[in-house]
Amino acid sequence: MDAPYAKLERLEPGIARVLAHNPSAFTYYGTQTYLIGSEEVAVVDPGPDLPEHVDALEHAIGGRRVAAIMCTHTHRDHSPASRPLAERTGAPLIGCAPLTLETVGPRADAAFDGDYSPDIVLEDGQTLEVGGKPVFVVATPGHTSNHLCFAYEGALLTGDHVMGWSTTVVVPPDGDMAAYMQSLEKLRQRDDRTYYPAHGPPVTNPQQYVRGLIGHRMQREKQILRLVGEKPRDIPDIVANAYPGLDKRLTVAAGGSVWSHLLDLERRGLVQQQQDLWTAA
Ligand SMILES: [Zn+2]
Repeated sequence: MDAPYAKLERLEPGIARVLAHNPSAFTYYGTQTYLIGSEEVAVVDPGPDLPEHVDALEHAIGGRRVAAIMCTHTHRDHSPASRPLAERTGAPLIGCAPLTLETVGPRADAAFDGDYSPDIVLEDGQTLEVGGKPVFVVATPGHTSNHLCFAYEGALLTGDHVMGWSTTVVVPPDGDMAAYMQSLEKLRQRDDRTYYPAHGPPVTNPQQYVRGLIGHRMQREKQILRLVGEKPRDIPDIVANAYPGLDKRLTVAAGGSVWSHLLDLERRGLVQQQQDLWTAA
């Protein structure tokens, strides 16, 4: 398939997107940057700092006033273009909190954009006006601790919390499975019409889709409990049994997801760890 890189795609009145050229096993065809508003716009998830993507965004903005450059979270495929775009447009960075993880040790994570520095941090329940219309903030920690979704005109821009092509990666230390499940539950109780994720196609049946995601994680949890109930197992052993035929590029991410499930189960007193081995408690 020929992906529409650097092209402005209009999705509905007031919502358009531009796809960045950063395809990978984690980003699908790449990061989708959204423009919301009409005479005045906000840019959501500016994406990776690729000159042709920033040029495409500037072209898509077309001289309109930019009320805000907003990031759902600070993974490197989402926030780095916020800086050149702010320079070119003069717009403020308004959105998720910065996240400082260590560069070495157990809290290190190379996927984070440590240079992200917002002018204004938004909290759950706050609103921001773009072209006279409200953008409502829904905090959705789990994929990362600083993750936000943005609701606009009945649509929800879901970042990486809910994706349209694959399940979300939830990897400790910053990713948290219990928080992620609570954030899914939070979306289940909303009545958004459409989700626009940063990766993959729009989700036009949000309620059903979120229930499916919750069910999928509960199945995974049950499976992990069954595997460690049979005998003590380490994480690679659990991954090999729980993800048959897994794309090798995703082994580390699957291990991270299993680990976040195990930490959650440990907190709930259902499993215990001895060195690398996990057993039912
Ligand atoms: Zn992410």
